[in-house]
Amino acid sequence: MASRLANRLTQARRQRFVGRRAELELFRAALGRDVPDFAVLHLVGPGGMGKTTLLREYAQIAEEAGRGLDTPAIYQVIKDAEPLTEPATHKIPSNLRRRYDRLARFPQGYLVMGDALASFNPVYGQGMSVAALESAALDDCLAQGDDRLAERFFKQAGKIIDIPWSTAVGNDLRFPEVAGPRNGMVRFINWYISKLHHAAQHDPVVSVAFLKVVNLVESPPSVIKPGIMWRVLRGNLWAKAGNEVAGRETAVAPELV
Ligand SMILES: Cc1cc2nc3c(=O)[nH]c(=O)nc-3n(C[C@H](O)[C@H](O)[C@H](O)COP(=O)(O)OP(=O)(O)OC[C@H]3O[C@@H](n4cnc5c(N)ncnc54)[C@H](O)[C@@H]3O)c2cc1C
Repeated sequence: MASRLANRLTQARRQRFVGRRAELELFRAALGRDVPDFAVLHLVGPGGMGKTTLLREYAQIAEEAGRGLDTPAIYQVIKDAEPLTEPATHKIPSNLRRRYDRLARFPQGYLVMGDALASFNPVYGQGMSVAALESAALDDCLAQGDDRLAERFFKQAGKIIDIPWSTAVGNDLRFPEVAGPRNGMVRFINWYISKLHHAAQHDPVVSVAFLKVVNLVESPPSVIKPGIMWRVLRGNLWAKAGNEVAGRETAVAPELV
């Protein structure tokens, strides 16, 4: 009885699934190949955008294509499982930056670095990169002796933190539930980034340009270069004209797989 009910629920869920044609096509195409184009497919996005629903659809498609898991035992056990508790959240309630660089004095023989200097919303995956860049900066500072070491290091670290900090904090302000001041520039950038995300769904060049900024390979102004702005405009006009995303080139850029 329980399993029949579960089957009916699964069927009902599937009938309600709409859209996401590009994502489904991408997955089906990968399933159809002997060696898929990618080893890991990440689904990333804010809560409520449909990641779990899309994953369920992927699992169903894989089963139907006879490409389910080689050992589906764990999947069979958990696929219809009910969570025992509420989800647990990680313990970083907000981005946090401590301005040791603004202190007039700092105890000799001590330093602060990594998350203790600035910790970011982990969803942007920047913390380890920033800590590594700070380590390289500390190496440079030590090469010049230990005179005023903390002062020199915090100055260098501040420059390293500025960009990822503004990216993380600014991007979080896109969500209305996040408290914080939004000046004209923040509102403009977040409006532009939402348009960029839209265009990036079907334009790999825009997608890669954005990921390079998020991964600290390029600076934020690189996504407002004329070439990228033109693509963002074109992508949005094209979508406005009523075209389907699925009809376009795939969003997975060769550089990323
Ligand atoms: C869920 C999540 C996902 C993340 N994903 C990414 C990612 O994809 N990419 C990325 O770049 N960054 C990511 N980060 C951020 C990254 O993990 C941190 O920025 C990075 O680990 C910071 O390094 P750290 O050395 O400053 O601190 P930590 O790595 O936290 O190291 C601090 C160490 O100090 C120890 N410690 C604490 N108190 C004491 C004490 N009193 N005595 C002795 N030892 C102590 C702790 O046990 C710990 O081992 C993520 C963070 C989280 C929470």
